Amino acid sequence: MALHELPRVDQLNLASLELPDTHPAARLGRTVPVHGFLIHHPDGAILVDTGVGFGNDFIDELYRPSCTALDAALASCEVAVADVVAVVNSHLHFDHCGQNPVLFGGSTSFYSQDIELGAVTADDYYTDRRWALCPRSQQRVVNGDEEIAEGVTILSTPGHTAGHQSVLVQARDERVVVGGQLVWHGDELEAEVASAANVDDIAELKQAAVDSIRRIKSLHPSIGGAPHEWVVPQGSV
Ligand SMILES: [Zn+2]
Repeated sequence: MALHELPRVDQLNLASLELPDTHPAARLGRTVPVHGFLIHHPDGAILVDTGVGFGNDFIDELYRPSCTALDAALASCEVAVADVVAVVNSHLHFDHCGQNPVLFGGSTSFYSQDIELGAVTADDYYTDRRWALCPRSQQRVVNGDEEIAEGVTILSTPGHTAGHQSVLVQARDERVVVGGQLVWHGDELEAEVASAANVDDIAELKQAAVDSIRRIKSLHPSIGGAPHEWVVPQGSV
């Protein structure tokens, strides 16, 4: 079902990182932002990604993050932590789920793809599990696409990770897609490429990434955002 009116979608500036030389996107710029997106849904705020967390010495040393506390970022959009009814993590790398724990122990639901949760448990170096894994009672496991609130649908968009997901928000005559890390930069949408900055050099993932980009473009969304780009592209995803 589509909403009567498109809700406001705000971009949150949650952190900036200094990419190490070894990072595949470092050649595009060493200092990168980390964004989240806040959907002001009439049933409660829905947060897409929570940025980088606090207290991981390895990440602090390697990426030198400068973080904004989630409660302050939400307050800048007139939203309190208690107003967040759902968190959708585009994927569970450390820079997309880092402040999930702020919402642990409450009633907020956390949505991740089953395959993404599997990657977290299978690989000790995939992320910080203290941030990625919420209490079992709050975990909602998604397989593919799922409507989680009126007009808000999670879309499976593998590529950057096999369990990557995006969020479609639909009103009667408008659509917004929050694309997570569907791309690193907006121009990858235009070119329909799986960039080396964003997708591992694995044929299956690269093809999945291109298919995901084409799928999102076929929805003709009005706006959206890339999580590591300073300017949100207008008129595209
Ligand atoms: Zn990632």
